[in-house]
Amino acid sequence: MRADLAAMTPEALAALANVGLVKRAQREIEGGQGPVVHEEEGGVVVATFPDGISTRLLPGHALKDTPCGCGAKSVCRHRVAAVLVYAAGAGSETRPPWQIGSEELLVWLGERASLVDAAEAAGVDVELGTSPPIARFSGCAVRFLAGADLGHARCDCASTRCVHVPLAVRAFWRLSAEARSRGGGQVRLGPPPRPTIPASVLDGVEGLLGKTLARGLADARGLAQAREEVRARLKEYPWLDGLFEDIEAQRVAWESRSALHDAGEVRRLLAEGWARARAARSGGDPAALLGLGEPLEVPLERARLISLGARLSAAGTARSLEVLFWDGASVVSWSISIPDKVDPSTMISVAGTPLGVMAGGQILSRHLVRLARRTIEVRRGRDTTVVPQRGDWGDIPAPFGFSGPAALFTDEASRPPSFLRPRARTAALRVVATNGGVQGLSWSPGRQTLSGWIEEGGAELRLERAHEWFAPGAIAALAEALPAARYVSGWLRESRGGRVLEPIAVVTDRVVVPDLSPAAPIPALPVAAPEARDLLGAALGRLESALDALAQDGVLAARIPPLAPALSAVGLRAMAATYSRLEAARAAGDLGEATQAWADAAIQAALARA
Ligand SMILES: [Zn+2]
Ligand SMILES: [Zn+2]
Repeated sequence: MRADLAAMTPEALAALANVGLVKRAQREIEGGQGPVVHEEEGGVVVATFPDGISTRLLPGHALKDTPCGCGAKSVCRHRVAAVLVYAAGAGSETRPPWQIGSEELLVWLGERASLVDAAEAAGVDVELGTSPPIARFSGCAVRFLAGADLGHARCDCASTRCVHVPLAVRAFWRLSAEARSRGGGQVRLGPPPRPTIPASVLDGVEGLLGKTLARGLADARGLAQAREEVRARLKEYPWLDGLFEDIEAQRVAWESRSALHDAGEVRRLLAEGWARARAARSGGDPAALLGLGEPLEVPLERARLISLGARLSAAGTARSLEVLFWDGASVVSWSISIPDKVDPSTMISVAGTPLGVMAGGQILSRHLVRLARRTIEVRRGRDTTVVPQRGDWGDIPAPFGFSGPAALFTDEASRPPSFLRPRARTAALRVVATNGGVQGLSWSPGRQTLSGWIEEGGAELRLERAHEWFAPGAIAALAEALPAARYVSGWLRESRGGRVLEPIAVVTDRVVVPDLSPAAPIPALPVAAPEARDLLGAALGRLESALDALAQDGVLAARIPPLAPALSAVGLRAMAATYSRLEAARAAGDLGEATQAWADAAIQAALARA
């Protein structure tokens, strides 16, 4: 019994040949001109026609490859008629595709199995019909022309590496018996689909970024209502919402002449907004890009927060201290402002403990809340204690903790540029083991900067820390602790074409927090060799200044110098072309094109620094 032929319907035959041939063969059979068919041993079906022509349907051969007495090289009406008559005579039920065994499928697949697994792992939706068996994918359909006979399954995708037939079989396996009896249903193979962000939300985001750039931050006050309308739709997307919050904070700082205003930060925020919106529009993961699904508040029950150091900062004369902690899963940040004339290391804030002790120890608390951007709040003061720590930072995993520079660089290279990463306050904090201390400490009197490096098998991570008036003991404390360091924690930054760690704590036989160390003169250190002139960085800096001016005063309004030749001269040709586009759009008064060119240039500049 030839199950493959018995299962052939006229529709299936039409897919192998064409409808015209099938119709003609059917007419001839009805008119008494059909063949007499018998099956020989070995499954050869022989059909003999009234005019003497004979067709042999060989098992394991496609219809076009089986011989026919008419001599045709392709499927002819004889072969079609032979199958029709045989199938009508066989009349028996064939095995459906969902009865294909997993072993059977595996043997048939051979080396292609891994391709099919990969396609399934990416996630596929399949719409199944059971009579006749058909599986529809988004761009093609698989027909099982002879039921479970895989040699007669046909996909119309025209791909030489088609994986749809085996995917269809796997989908049929998942189809419930109930759906089968209903005649079919939908099956999802692999992981559930990623949520998509509505285009209208991204339109709103890009629209608001565009309006801000059109007016310039200096005149963005009138955008309050537009901003509230857009932000009302961003509650589920905390990264985007936080971005507009930061842009607004920059506007307020500019208006109040606060030292917190930073033109470069305004440019980076606007560029980040466009980069995130564009990446989400082209199918990027909204959870990673926009923070979709990120909880706004997570209570930390019985938290143990190990301090990883602290950093003072100042805006004008107003100082604040940020303490960074490892909470067992992530790095979190806690900030406090330091009143005038108060020594931050002796200031009491949590659990009756001076900040200098807390920043070198750990907090045990039941009243902490972690917010979306990885900042924490202490909600009630009781049940919170500070105890010492031993500085065992070797257990902190990537992407925060590393056994050395090589592991750190490998991890960095595997991740998207920093402006597309989760928008956590603490995303750039790193803990690196030194493998024998920080080497080559030197002092640059011109830049007022201490530098050194951590070396590991040829990989070198540079450390840099500038002297600041509000941390008068930091350089001396670092100069003493770094040569004996077991671990260094700090902010990983981009500086002049390379990654640099700005230290905030050093583990020797204790935890040293340089920002909270007593004031001390800068010790005698080897003087750093003068830096080579950085032509690329200088050209990039001029581009950034021009973009800053446009973001401040309006993309069509501010004056900018011609920079394309200078950018080309140092090899930044794509940036030069974008800059020329920006100049042309401004000259033509084309706001839309100028806005897009500004965004392109700002993203290119950010990538060059990443
Ligand atoms: Zn023929
Ligand atoms: Zn296919």
